[in-house]
Amino acid sequence: MPRERILSGDDLPEPEPVQTAASPTGKLRDDEIALRPKHMNEMVGQRKVAERLGIAVDAARKRKEPLGHILLDGPPGLGKTTFATCIPRDLGVALQIASGAALAAPKDLLPYLTNAEEGSILFIDEIHRLPKAVEEFMYPAMEDFRVDITLGEGAGARTVNMKLRPFTVIGATTRSGLLSAPLRDRFQIREHLEFYSNAELTEIVGRNAAKLRVEIEDDAAGKIAHCSRGTPRIANNRLRWVRDYSTSRAGGHITLAIAEAALNMLGIDILGLDAQDRKYLETINRVFHGGPAGVEAIAHTMNAALDTLVDEVEPFLLRSELVVRTPRGRKLTARAYEHLGTAPPPDEPQLPLF
Ligand code: ADP
Repeated sequence: MPRERILSGDDLPEPEPVQTAASPTGKLRDDEIALRPKHMNEMVGQRKVAERLGIAVDAARKRKEPLGHILLDGPPGLGKTTFATCIPRDLGVALQIASGAALAAPKDLLPYLTNAEEGSILFIDEIHRLPKAVEEFMYPAMEDFRVDITLGEGAGARTVNMKLRPFTVIGATTRSGLLSAPLRDRFQIREHLEFYSNAELTEIVGRNAAKLRVEIEDDAAGKIAHCSRGTPRIANNRLRWVRDYSTSRAGGHITLAIAEAALNMLGIDILGLDAQDRKYLETINRVFHGGPAGVEAIAHTMNAALDTLVDEVEPFLLRSELVVRTPRGRKLTARAYEHLGTAPPPDEPQLPLF
C-alpha cells in the first residue's frame, strides 16, 4: 500500500503529525517539523513566490474552488515541501504526501487519487521520477478529475472510467528539465525557488534558535547564515551543530567565536563550502586541469552519486560563479582558482567574471 499518510481535517494540527518510518521522502523528521514554518506568512524570503501563491490560495478559498495545480522547482532544502505543507493549512484542506520515486505503477497512485477529498492537496515530491505510465495515468486525473482503469487482461480487458473529487496536485522537483512537456503543461502555476540571501538566512537562524530555546548573538547568527550555501535546511543543520558544540564546550550561549570554532570543526570554509564542494572543485582542477569536464566523469572520479552532484553540489557553486557550464562540460572560473589558492593551468584563457 503506497499511501504514506493523510492529514485529515481542515485545520492541520500543530505540531504536525509524526511522519511514519515509511516516509516517502524521509524529509519530515520530527526535528525538521519543529522548525518548519506552519503558514506561508511565517516563511522568510521567497516573497514574490509566496505572494503569488497567497493570491491563488485566497482566490480559491473565496471562490470555494480547488486551487490550480502547482509545480515548485529548485535545489533541495529551499522550501518546496514547506510551501506544500503550508498551503493546505492556509486553505484549511487535507494533505496527502507521496514521492515520485515510490509510485512505480498506476496502481500505486490510485489510492491517493480515490482518497483525495474535494479541494484537498496531493503533494508529489520528486515528481520528475514518476515513471511514464504513472505520468500518463495522471493526465486525465489532473485535467478532468477522472481516471481510466483497465480491468482484466487480453481480449476480455475493458476500461472503466472513474470520477474523482476535484483536488490539487502540488509537484516538487529539483530537475524541472526532466519533466515531460505534457506533465509540465498541466500545472497552472509554476514557481522556481531561488537561494536565500544572507539577511534572510540570518533571520531564519535567529527565529529557529528561539524555537530551539538557545541564545545566539546576532553576529553568530550571521556567521551561520553565511556558511549555509543559501539554503534554509543547511542553516538549520549548521545551527543544530553549533548548538551541540556550544552545549558541550561552552555553557550553551552561542557567540561569534563559538559559531566560528564549531563551523571550523565541520570543515566549512570562508565561502561556506563544505568538504564535498571543495573536493568537486579540486577534482576538476587536479584531474581535469580546470575543465571542461563532463559531470558524469567528475562524479566517477569523486566516487560520488551523479544526482548528488547535479542536485545538491553544483547549483550553489554555479550561483557562486566558481564553476560555469559550457557546451563541453564544467569549467572552473578565476574565482575558483583564487578560492583554492592555486594558479590556473597554463595557456588556458580565463573565463571572465561578470
Ligand atoms: P525542499 O522541500 O525544497 O527540499 P524544505 O521545504 O523541506 O525544502 O525545507 C527544509 C527546511 O528549511 C524546512 O524544514 C524549514 O525548516 C526550512 N525552510 C525552508 N524554507 C523556509 C522559509 N522560507 N522560511 C523559513 N524556513 C524555511
